[in-house]
Amino acid sequence: MDLLDILTDKGLRREPPTREEALAVLATTDDQLLDVVAAAGRVRRQWFGRRVKLNYLVNLKSGLCPEDCSYCSQRLGSKAEILKYTWLKPDQAAEAAAAGVAGGAKRVCLVASGRGPTDRDIDRVADTIAAIKDADENVEVCACLGLLSDNQAERLKAAGADAYNHNLNTSESTYGDITTTHTYADRVDTVTKAHGAGLSACSGLIAGMGESDEDLVDVVFALRGLDPDSVPVNFLIPFEGTPLAEEWNLTPQRCLRILAMVRFVCPDIEVRIAGGREVHLRSMQPLGLHIANSIFLGDYLTSEGQAGQADLDMIKDAGFEVEGAEQTTLPRHRVPAGSGCGGHQEAEACGTGGGCGTGCGPCGGHGAEATAAGEAGGAASGAVETAGAGTAGAEDEARTDLVRVRRRGAGTELAPNA
Ligand code: SF4
Repeated sequence: MDLLDILTDKGLRREPPTREEALAVLATTDDQLLDVVAAAGRVRRQWFGRRVKLNYLVNLKSGLCPEDCSYCSQRLGSKAEILKYTWLKPDQAAEAAAAGVAGGAKRVCLVASGRGPTDRDIDRVADTIAAIKDADENVEVCACLGLLSDNQAERLKAAGADAYNHNLNTSESTYGDITTTHTYADRVDTVTKAHGAGLSACSGLIAGMGESDEDLVDVVFALRGLDPDSVPVNFLIPFEGTPLAEEWNLTPQRCLRILAMVRFVCPDIEVRIAGGREVHLRSMQPLGLHIANSIFLGDYLTSEGQAGQADLDMIKDAGFEVEGAEQTTLPRHRVPAGSGCGGHQEAEACGTGGGCGTGCGPCGGHGAEATAAGEAGGAASGAVETAGAGTAGAEDEARTDLVRVRRRGAGTELAPNA
């Protein structure tokens, strides 16, 4: 059987590919790219129909982080000329969130720079969640506050948070090359704490940091092992003033292969195109919608996205629909019993669901925006031609012209982009 037939068949049955099959997806040629997108698209439609979930980032606290994540514009020593401000007040954050919700977002992602929250910070975020839910009780709220201490996840849950985001970002074996002030194990621990507290776990990766295909496959299988509800796939925005400013390694084709690999490994999990969508996928963004079922609306944490209306137009033009608050993101079998969320019939693939919706959040600050998100033999030797093991994709040109530091929305006097 052809590699893509195998992967489609497995995805429709919620069976993961082998590691060799996942690597083979990353090594497919440009001639095979539309077939790869079509195969991943069949799996996407089986579990999520043609719905696109919109998420909206609110950067509660920007810059001045003591951590040294190389990809992040908010890191210790960053020379990126980003907005820097301390905690937004709850009403300021709620106002920014309301703009995103009015634009079509069903989830608001509250992000703060820093190693992790103090107990006082949890109180602030609890007040912010209350302000957002007072305005609209149906809004899903995801917090992204860094490493969690004991009981903080439980406190966020009690305050009304629906989800918690903390990305693994890259493989365990290369994590120390990216960050020295905390460890991969610290990140796994926080995702586990969020999960244990009953928060919907959101954890993803950043591609384009110089990693190998093996690293990408490692981190995606590790994410699957943590059983998140959503996986944000960030494409590094090489910010001037950060150590990874020269890492322009991605092409639109490479990004689509990475998204497809994530979809095959996580067939029934929300896959979100996160930071770097406009910078790296560029005019190929609509093809990404055939693979991923979720994006961020409008701007990111420290960089600007395309206009929110352009996001909505793109979704409509590509033949997809914005997922409504009354629709459930995840397939029925992934919605916890007693959650009140209807979920979808597995076989009906998607349409409209009932209930609340679980799913997951972002991340930029702790994600990639750098801003701040069996038949093995058959796979490798299958009918799909590959471009060769370890293919990192053709080098992308540096599109610094597409990187715009955020100058509007939260922390400014200007209206948010939504
Ligand atoms: S990713 Fe988060 S912890 Fe790391 S430097 Fe950026 S804001 Fe700080």
